[in-house]
Amino acid sequence: MKALIAAALLASSGFAATAAAQSVPPAATPAPVATAAAPTTPPRLIVAISVDQFSADLFQQYRNHFTGGFARLLTGAVFPSGYQSHAATETCPGHSTILTGMRPAHTGIVANNWIDQSVARADKTVYCSEDETVPGTDHNNYVVSDKHLKVPTLGEMMKAAHPATRAVSVAGKDRAAVMMGGHKVDELWWWDGKTYSSYAGRAVPRAVQRGRDAVAAMVAKPQPALPLPGFCQPLDRPITVAGTVYGQGRFERAAGDLKAFRASPASDAAVFAIAAGLIQDMKLGRGETTDIIDIGASATDYIGHSLGTQGTEMCIQMDQLDQTLASFFQTLDGWGLDYEVVLTADHGAHDMTERQQQHAMPMETHVSGDATIKAVDAAVSAALGLKGPVLVGAEGDVYLAKGLSPANRARVLAEAQKRFAAQPQVAAAFTRAQIAAQPFATTPPETWTLLERARASFNPAVSGDLLVLLKPRVTTIETPGPGYVETHGSPWDYDRRVPILFWRKGMAGFEQPLSVETVDIAPTLAATIGLPVHGLDGRCLDLDPGAGDTCAR
Ligand SMILES: [Zn+2]
Repeated sequence: MKALIAAALLASSGFAATAAAQSVPPAATPAPVATAAAPTTPPRLIVAISVDQFSADLFQQYRNHFTGGFARLLTGAVFPSGYQSHAATETCPGHSTILTGMRPAHTGIVANNWIDQSVARADKTVYCSEDETVPGTDHNNYVVSDKHLKVPTLGEMMKAAHPATRAVSVAGKDRAAVMMGGHKVDELWWWDGKTYSSYAGRAVPRAVQRGRDAVAAMVAKPQPALPLPGFCQPLDRPITVAGTVYGQGRFERAAGDLKAFRASPASDAAVFAIAAGLIQDMKLGRGETTDIIDIGASATDYIGHSLGTQGTEMCIQMDQLDQTLASFFQTLDGWGLDYEVVLTADHGAHDMTERQQQHAMPMETHVSGDATIKAVDAAVSAALGLKGPVLVGAEGDVYLAKGLSPANRARVLAEAQKRFAAQPQVAAAFTRAQIAAQPFATTPPETWTLLERARASFNPAVSGDLLVLLKPRVTTIETPGPGYVETHGSPWDYDRRVPILFWRKGMAGFEQPLSVETVDIAPTLAATIGLPVHGLDGRCLDLDPGAGDTCAR
């Protein structure tokens, strides 16, 4: 019953039957470990999974309940304190670190959206994975592009070393697929709100068409409530936010509701189904060199934003994702593939403000209208006698308006910094000069100062003139509304900490609770396939629990 949705979808996507026909041991039972503590040959396929918004706190909350795919990963190398170490903990920057080995300062992906006042179109907000030069577009109605990612991904490095390598990326969001896949990919597909899309002119592979058809058929029918696992029952409690009751949902869905599908376990099942179909059809992991597939599971993030993290909804999602991962791994096992898995997240998050207040966090609060860019812009314009707007912004980055004289730029910057810093909810307001002068931190990420976190997020080509960071437990949501009750993006550890899990058959596991970084993933995987990499922000993590060293091959 548990994996009903996933199983049905996977079956209709045409590969679950293959898995069912195989005799595979239960996912939670690891194979006995042989003499070697870590395999010494390169894996034939790298499977890099990002679970959007899968915080270290969610991992901690559910790790003892996992019996499926997560339980298998828990038998590998477990890093419960991975860090998306930068300040702007959003989806695009987070995904840009996972397979490049570089922080956003170097990937160029400092935020989901930034301001570029030099663009020709009326809308000066630029989305991280769009081509803003395409006529007729804006940052909400855009053409997907990889142009803003300034560094190669692991897949690209693998292809450069071995042209026979195949690299594939599939995700519930375009920015996840693009930032993990990079510029040179054999297939790159994402959910566009209606179906699975890629760049214009690409032929639709059969595996993607099967996924499209399966989802269309499934969404056309109403979805009854999913069963509530026993360990989720204590969370089954209502909370009302802005007139809507949350906390007891079970993913019931009316026929045709694509938005509800997106924020449900079935959308992750669909992405894994398509990934498996592409592995099968393209014979990934069966070539002369190691292949790579990147999988962006976005449902956890959509569920978190729209329903919070501490109700039945997230609990069911964790259970369903566990089962989806189990089905996926068993399918790969059934095909006899030698694959290496890494699973991590693009950022963390924490629960909706109103439920936080009931859960022993009375200080949890929404950002005040006084601390917004609009309010400070009005105050600065009035104080300096200038016609506004003098400030424009996107998220934490604030930019001086184009057209200000050099003298007025300096006055506006000083006045804006002073006024932001005076806001009781603001932790810090740094100028670009302050951030640029800060050397990159070389200490453990949990010890970084706010300025060091800001430095890891700063790229002079796109970052703001001022970076405003709110205090902990202040959400950037000014007023919650239906479908938007919780978010992330802060420089605080609840948004920075994510699990990093490595697994491969025959590998002896270990747990390292000290902090590591998501930029360590690319050099770590590269070492296991004997690919030399240089000049990355991350370091290789030795996945051998004994005297052997997977970084020294
Ligand atoms: Zn995200």
